Amino acid sequence: MIKVENLDKYFNKFKALDKVNLRVKRGSIYGLVGPNGAGKTTLIKHLTGIYKQDRGSIEILGEPVYENVNIKSKIGYIPDDLYFFPQYKIKDMAAYYRSIYPKWNDERYKKLNEVFKIDENRKINKLSKGMQKQVSFWLALSCMPEVLILDEPIDGLDPLMRRKVWNLVVEDVAERETTVLVSSHNLKELENICDYVGIMHKGEMLIESNLDDLKSDVHKIQVAYREDFPI
Ligand code: ADP
Repeated sequence: MIKVENLDKYFNKFKALDKVNLRVKRGSIYGLVGPNGAGKTTLIKHLTGIYKQDRGSIEILGEPVYENVNIKSKIGYIPDDLYFFPQYKIKDMAAYYRSIYPKWNDERYKKLNEVFKIDENRKINKLSKGMQKQVSFWLALSCMPEVLILDEPIDGLDPLMRRKVWNLVVEDVAERETTVLVSSHNLKELENICDYVGIMHKGEMLIESNLDDLKSDVHKIQVAYREDFPI
């Protein structure tokens, strides 16, 4: 469903991604883990067609992503910095996404707010960071995406809301066979929901493994948890 091969990305002379490989199967949840600065957001911005790679290939549903409107409309991804109209109300953002995502589902949008309980008349710039995360997730799920890409979705949320977010992700995968890629700087947070985990560090994919193998392979864990590697 998602296939990344030998991805390189430079910001001027700084190599932010170094030969990154990644595969995510349909209907599975892939956790992208690594400390701040590892390259997770940079990788995600390639998967969502915001950045163009310098080398390597990225395919989602068998098609290249960059400048591909067809694929972008199947990916649920609402980046934080997409709150480009801070004066917008939530319902205005919803109207915007309704206009660009063909499978947008109003019923779902309404039903999901039974979980979040946020007044859709609130302006984006009046929301806390945690609430903005919730709104991002709420909008992304309302787009009924085939692929859901979540960048640190639970950052700034309290434990109860974290659980609710994870439940919604797991339910969505079970009901619709959604393919999910979710990033976090904390492996523990992802342990209970992911089928597969990739650990990034300094722009490289250090390990890709299912959780059982990752746990049983002491050497890999030592690499993953080495002192300068706070995850
Ligand atoms: P993560 O999401 O894992 O915290 P990022 O992908 O945001 O990591 O960043 C990876 C590295 O790339 C960091 O060293 C960051 O400073 C650098 N970086 C990210 N975006 C840019 C940019 N637009 N220009 C220059 N450097 C960047």
